[in-house]
Amino acid sequence: MTRSPAPKADPEQPGSLLPNGAAAKAGLNRTILEAGWVQFLQILANKAESVGRLTVPVDARNTSRACPDCGHVAKVNRATQSKFECTACGGTVNRSALSHIRW
Ligand SMILES: [Zn+2]
Repeated sequence: MTRSPAPKADPEQPGSLLPNGAAAKAGLNRTILEAGWVQFLQILANKAESVGRLTVPVDARNTSRACPDCGHVAKVNRATQSKFECTACGGTVNRSALSHIRW
């Protein structure tokens, strides 16, 4: 549904392309994808509310690098995929502990 249009070869000038509406399709793709996320987030919020949970939109940038205790953000805070250790305050988070949270 959001695939970009195939290039159109110009039969009169080999090696060049004809306009294929790629810019317009890119705009349509953006609209389709944005609408999908809006619907998904609305359904998620409704489901969460039905079981007494709260959804909180969060900017995903640096969420895996930020310390939950002091807020220090650094790439070296995450030594491995499963181990987080803050270089500022020494706080640690064990990812396997987070996996036990029931959603
Ligand atoms: Zn910290």
